[in-house]
Amino acid sequence: MVDFLTPAQRSERMSRIRGTDSRPELALRRALHRLGLRYRLHAKDLPGKPDIVFPRYKAVVFVHGCFWHRHAGCNIATTPKSNTPFWVEKFDKNVARDSRVVATLEELGWHVFVAWECELAPSKVQATAEQLALAIRATGT
Ligand SMILES: [Zn+2]
Repeated sequence: MVDFLTPAQRSERMSRIRGTDSRPELALRRALHRLGLRYRLHAKDLPGKPDIVFPRYKAVVFVHGCFWHRHAGCNIATTPKSNTPFWVEKFDKNVARDSRVVATLEELGWHVFVAWECELAPSKVQATAEQLALAIRATGT
C-alpha cells in the first residue's frame, strides 16, 4: 500500500492519535474507575482541555507524554541531536503553555494533577492510579 502522507502530515496525525485516548490514558481511566472515581473526558470548556475531569472533587488530570511535556529527570524526555534549537524552542513553548494552563485552572479553583506517561506503564499504572485516587479524594470537596 502506498503512503501518501508527507512526513509532516504523518507526524501531525500521530500526535493527534497520541493526544486523545492513548493507551496509557485508557489504562489509567480504567484503574481510576475500578477505584470508584467517576469522571468526564476532554473538557473542552476548561483551559487546556484536561484529559480527565472529576466534577465532584473539582479536580482535573492531565495525562502528559514525557517527551513533549518534558518530564523532569525522565529518560524519555530526551532532546533530539539534530535540529536541536527547533526542538528546544518547541519544548519551551509546551512547558510554558502547561504552566499557564495550571495557573489558570488553579485560579478558577480547580485542583490540577499530572499523570506522566512513564508512570502509566502496565506494571506501574495500578500504583499510580491508587496514589492519584488518594490525592483526588484528599481535595475534600
Ligand atoms: Zn516520564
